[in-house]
Amino acid sequence: MDYKKIGFKAGLEIHQQLATHKLFCKCQSVLDENVKYAFSRRLRPVQSEMGDIDRAAMEEARRGREFLYYASDQSSCLVEADEEPPHEANEEAVDIALTVSLLLNAHVVDEIHFMRKIVIDGSNTTGFQRTALIALDGKIDDVGIATICLEEDAARKIGEENKKIKYALDRLGIPLVEIATEPEIKSPERAKQIAEKIGLILRATKKVKRGIGTIRQDLNVSVKNGARVEIKGVQELNNIPKILENEVKRQLELIEVSKKLKKVEKIEMEIKNVSKIFKNTKSKFIRKALENGVVLALKLHGFNGLIKGIRYKEHRLGKEFAMHARMEGGGIMHSDELPAYGISIEEVKELKKILNCGDDDAFILSTGDEMTARKSLEAVFKRALQAFEGVPREVRRAMPDGTTEYMRPMPGAARMYPETDVPPIRIKRQRLKKIEKRLPELPDEKIERMRRNYNLSIEEAKQLVYNGKDEIFEKIALRHRGYEKIIARILLNIIVEMEREGYDGKIAIKKIDSVLDGLKKNLFAKEGVETLLFYFAEHPEASIEEAIEKKGIKKISDDEIREKIKKIVEGKVDFIKEKKERAVSPLMGLVMKEFRGKVDGSVINKILREEVKKLIKDKCS
Ligand SMILES: [Zn+2]
Repeated sequence: MDYKKIGFKAGLEIHQQLATHKLFCKCQSVLDENVKYAFSRRLRPVQSEMGDIDRAAMEEARRGREFLYYASDQSSCLVEADEEPPHEANEEAVDIALTVSLLLNAHVVDEIHFMRKIVIDGSNTTGFQRTALIALDGKIDDVGIATICLEEDAARKIGEENKKIKYALDRLGIPLVEIATEPEIKSPERAKQIAEKIGLILRATKKVKRGIGTIRQDLNVSVKNGARVEIKGVQELNNIPKILENEVKRQLELIEVSKKLKKVEKIEMEIKNVSKIFKNTKSKFIRKALENGVVLALKLHGFNGLIKGIRYKEHRLGKEFAMHARMEGGGIMHSDELPAYGISIEEVKELKKILNCGDDDAFILSTGDEMTARKSLEAVFKRALQAFEGVPREVRRAMPDGTTEYMRPMPGAARMYPETDVPPIRIKRQRLKKIEKRLPELPDEKIERMRRNYNLSIEEAKQLVYNGKDEIFEKIALRHRGYEKIIARILLNIIVEMEREGYDGKIAIKKIDSVLDGLKKNLFAKEGVETLLFYFAEHPEASIEEAIEKKGIKKISDDEIREKIKKIVEGKVDFIKEKKERAVSPLMGLVMKEFRGKVDGSVINKILREEVKKLIKDKCS
């Protein structure tokens, strides 16, 4: 795909939990399953000061859902329940946010003001999320950083049944740094790289939480003639390119559909009860549905052939229709896929006749109780209207397989109100100076310093930093100067391989010191390092001498080596006579086998070469 040609533009929004207590109370920022008590609330949309009601809030309220909150022991108090006003903002969290801002070359604001950002999904007991702008206008590589905010994390959704949504309050109020880039990222792969770099900068502060769910990426993306779509909840960095590629194809497909719809003037909503057509149907599915329900049909003028997909069938419009119907509780079938599901070609013809469908027209069927089927078809009709414009601006949810699904319309511009319970914080020059002095090393600087200090290749240094193994590397390397290459190999290859095979890499890491000490004392050749670490993973209590003994890799003296090589060489006199010095390479494998792991390959090579030469001199002259 030529991303430049299609006008690809993406931005990132990264949310990182901080490793400090909660933002507006002293509760610990830990997930806690011990439920202390539960309570419930409902959402009521109210008009803004401008007299309008947010359409996203309306859609949410229309579904009439109830929110159940579970308060936990260690990590929720009256603040999370919104029974007590928030305390002053956590100063340590502010310092971390300032550190991140400076690392991203952003301009810190003079005064931090917390604002209330309306949330409509019940994920906050207050109905809003507190957020404060910390800095703006930063830069990472060639991508601008629009804003850096400090905000409170939302409650954790733990379940949903019968219009009741359950939230745990343990996560609510954990401080988050939110970093939003400008939509200046030019390709899906680049988006991953930038997300990775920002992640490293956050980790460099050593004050951020690690592990699943502690960092979340949202993406926004558009192509030329498409629209800005927000994709929420990307957990895996490696998934970013695939998600973006899919969204590009989806937008291109929808643009294609809108082009085909240019010839259609307008469509009207016509829903008909077509149950009687199926009086003698062979479709088990329809017969079952008719037992205590109906079959309703919606005619879509001009949509024939557009629902099943034109260019990217896996991102067909039919999928969008199905999702909108599903949100109303119904399922659909469309004429592009019929006859199918046991519905006959005659029944399809009959349907087209009743609905007065021309060659260009399509129809959608929905079954079940009449109310649900009707609402589902109405939702499909609303979505069909949007198809004329191409790509609707909307919020979608990232799925683990790299696809996305519709979540809700794009909310109006974030509606913010000042948070009157939390006093503003004036950022004094002194405070910034102090933070500036203690700024951690940036990842790129660290890679360069490690390369220089430890004689590593740029790739080794990069991998250590990117995999978060730089700290442990430096600790070990300072105790074993001259062995840096081996340490890097242990951390980047051997331990990884071990863990892949199901061993506990942590045990092996603890044994690195004794293995390296043994190596220094010349107890074994460096080829034996891997063997020993694997042995220790299974026998953590063993001593180095014991391990060397057990694996039979005790170092052999040079005399012994020479003796053995001599024997091998003498057994191959004819071969050497024929090949002369070219015999060394083929013999090398044979000799290495004899000394597997016990002797350094370069030592063997040297002695073997000498012995072969000697033999040639003796026997061939
Ligand atoms: Zn609390």
